[in-house]
Amino acid sequence: MTAGRVRAAVIGVGHLGRHHARILSDLKGVELVGVVDVNPQRAQEIAEIHRTKALAPGDLAGAVDAVVVATPTASHAEVARPLLERGIAVLVEKPIARSIVEADAIIAAGRAGGTIVAVGHTERFNPAVEAARGRLIAPRFIEVHRLGTFPDRSLDIDVVFDLMIHDLDVILSVVDSPVAGIDAVGVAVLTPKFDIANVRLRFESGCIANLTASRISRDRTRKIRFFQPDSYVSVDYAAQELEVWRLVRPASGLPAIEGGIVPVTNEEPLKRELQDFVDAVRDRRPPKVTGEDGRRALALAAQITERMTTVGER
Ligand code: NAD
Repeated sequence: MTAGRVRAAVIGVGHLGRHHARILSDLKGVELVGVVDVNPQRAQEIAEIHRTKALAPGDLAGAVDAVVVATPTASHAEVARPLLERGIAVLVEKPIARSIVEADAIIAAGRAGGTIVAVGHTERFNPAVEAARGRLIAPRFIEVHRLGTFPDRSLDIDVVFDLMIHDLDVILSVVDSPVAGIDAVGVAVLTPKFDIANVRLRFESGCIANLTASRISRDRTRKIRFFQPDSYVSVDYAAQELEVWRLVRPASGLPAIEGGIVPVTNEEPLKRELQDFVDAVRDRRPPKVTGEDGRRALALAAQITERMTTVGER
């Protein structure tokens, strides 16, 4: 680090990586040293926009303290490992890797290099999720809808690993109980992978989570709702809106339901995620979403797809 500034780079400046580059180029206490991409024109284009350099992977050793890996999931492990082994902190996009073996290799490389691994589960940094967290005491039932229009990317993985994994990570960070049962159904419509999935998770605590994810919807919806014995907490991830309704029992007469929208200060979740990452690098502390968290979400996604019954041809 030079004068307390974290020297950072982004590898893979496609759809998401360009936003990492944009935010890092503006973040206080960060120097965006450069961007790397297998497509040299793309690297040059993004470097020019953000007044930085297009670099080769070999240029990074000794030049950076922290790297964001936003390449396709299949290459996360091969790109992240050598950096971590050299002691360079890495924020790897979600899902952490395409297999548990690769996720373990990333985590082990971080340990060997004495540095941190953060995983890009962006919804944890959504201001509405952060505002809801203190109100989630004992969810008994969780309902999730994450419906998106057909993307031209990430079609090499199931909708469970691409979209549902965001909600699996949020739920695992809220429900402190092992998963006791999984019922899952998937439908492959436009691709050979599952494009729609519905999953019911039963936790040992008795909490039930029902998740639906689709990447072939006409409209976009991203909502998670928590039902508790005396309150209902609803988060609209996309609008960054939080609603809380409580059961109020007066000394006499019938109980009433009171509440409504809770004010939330909106901010780009990706910016909060990157701020946490660079603060963790500077303060030498674990990031908010660790490699182990990423592994846990990946392991649950893998269990779900293993148990998934199929509708239609695959
Ligand atoms: P993309 O295909 O748009 O971009 C990937 C970029 O990486 C491309 O520019 C490509 O040329 C480059 N690349 C490929 N292999 C490389 C390598 N070995 N070294 C350097 N560059 C390489 O993909 P995307 O949609 O930006 O997704 C990237 C990652 O981000 C995926 O893991 C995806 O799951 C994740 N993602 C996360 C979120 C989120 O909400 N956190 C959203 C979208 C994507």
